[in-house]
Amino acid sequence: MKSSTHLSNNPDVVVIGGGPAGSTVSTLIAQQGYRVQLFERERFPRFHIGESLIPETYWVLKRLGMLDKLRESHFVKKYSVQFVSASGKQSAPFYFWDNKPHECSQTWQVVRSEFDLMMLNNAREHGVEAHEGVRVRDVLFEGQRAVGVKIQQADGSEQEVRARVVVDASGQSGLLQNKFKLRVWDPVLNKGGIWTYWQGAYRDTGRDEGATLVLQTANRQGWFWYIPLHDDRVSVGVVAPFDYLFKGRDSHEQTYNEEVERCPAVKERLSHGKRVTGYFATRDYSYRGTQVSGDGWVLVGDAFGFLDPLYSSGVLLALRSGEMAADAIVEGFQLGDVSAAQLGKWGTGFNQGVDRMRRLVCEYYEGFSFGQFVRAYPHLSGTITDLLIGDLFTDRVDSVWQPMESQYPEGKTPPSGWDSGTPPEVADNKRNELVLPEGLRP
Ligand SMILES: Cc1cc2nc3c(=O)[nH]c(=O)nc-3n(C[C@H](O)[C@H](O)[C@H](O)COP(=O)(O)OP(=O)(O)OC[C@H]3O[C@@H](n4cnc5c(N)ncnc54)[C@H](O)[C@@H]3O)c2cc1C
Repeated sequence: MKSSTHLSNNPDVVVIGGGPAGSTVSTLIAQQGYRVQLFERERFPRFHIGESLIPETYWVLKRLGMLDKLRESHFVKKYSVQFVSASGKQSAPFYFWDNKPHECSQTWQVVRSEFDLMMLNNAREHGVEAHEGVRVRDVLFEGQRAVGVKIQQADGSEQEVRARVVVDASGQSGLLQNKFKLRVWDPVLNKGGIWTYWQGAYRDTGRDEGATLVLQTANRQGWFWYIPLHDDRVSVGVVAPFDYLFKGRDSHEQTYNEEVERCPAVKERLSHGKRVTGYFATRDYSYRGTQVSGDGWVLVGDAFGFLDPLYSSGVLLALRSGEMAADAIVEGFQLGDVSAAQLGKWGTGFNQGVDRMRRLVCEYYEGFSFGQFVRAYPHLSGTITDLLIGDLFTDRVDSVWQPMESQYPEGKTPPSGWDSGTPPEVADNKRNELVLPEGLRP
């Protein structure tokens, strides 16, 4: 029989969800001596997509005390990203080190079930009381102010837990976003993905072994990620507009194979590999919350916003939002202020950073070529690399947009902003979804 977990009394902060955002925010608050309880509905290790880290995660991972653990892990080291165009032309690799000769320029390709467990255990080592198999059913309010959560234990029993601040890190489930209808779907980034895992497929050697490859399909409708993992596995997935990938097509397996046929550079790399899992699929509409916080509550990670996976920015954004929220909460405790304004004071600057990554994503989908751009503006190669590593929270990198626009064909205009998207009240038919296969899940 499943039993209930014993909880200690009166935490300062309750965190909903034990993914990278939840682990980050809770660790950083606990480091300052506050009591944090985290509730995760699953039992870890559990499967999650999102395997490629980008270098700017380094600074948060350092604060969390995770760097040595990652250095000692078997995760593949990643030094670069490379793009292959629809015609099969390869850009030169964007080596992060060449742009920033610092150890932060080496990052990792992680298996998320292992990485997320490491992060959660690290949180526990910093004093976070983390409970797995405990679902948060609702957030409790007194008037406008969040005052705690209602949890459901593994044995089905329910309990209220009160706290000064509630952090929603529930990922794409978006507990509070759904409750308050805060989610605005991106008008442009309506994508889906199908992926699987291969053993013994092509791997580069030396510092290129762990490179992420982004390979466009010949009809330019979609692109593949090619992410080398440890134990000779490679994660290979196709992303394309949702309607193109899923409407009027056959099984996920057949669609995947058809797209591999459209991408000779992927087909060739897989030719000696053996597929070791079934097919995973997701519909992945990008979205953002209209509000990052309220009195006594704040959103972090995918629970606040999700951006198309093209540049592997999801974990970085989970870590950075977790960090910014933690700093605002700790400062709020010191000031005796847990108002919406205090808890969400970082939201505007954070969104500006996400907008930069979003623009680079949209430009790619609208025909931007990294190779052509760097050939025309070699002095901006470093700035493009800054964006690719996730150095997003500075207007220094905005120097790339005007030259990019100068390469537009006649009549083309810059991509529209995320806030021209579907208003929450008319978006009932949209939802993100994940389809997991039976059998092995890394
Ligand atoms: C196809 C695809 C490819 C991607 N590729 C990359 C990549 O290469 N690199 C990258 O950095 N990112 C990538 N991402 C994005 C990445 O997966 C996410 O951005 C990241 O996992 C967000 O972390 P999080 O902590 O916010 O949410 P999650 O990691 O989803 O964690 C949320 C947690 O909350 C728990 N939870 C939910 N509801 C409740 C509840 N009511 N009570 C208790 N617990 C709850 C869930 O079980 C989950 O463990 C990709 C995403 C997709 C869809």
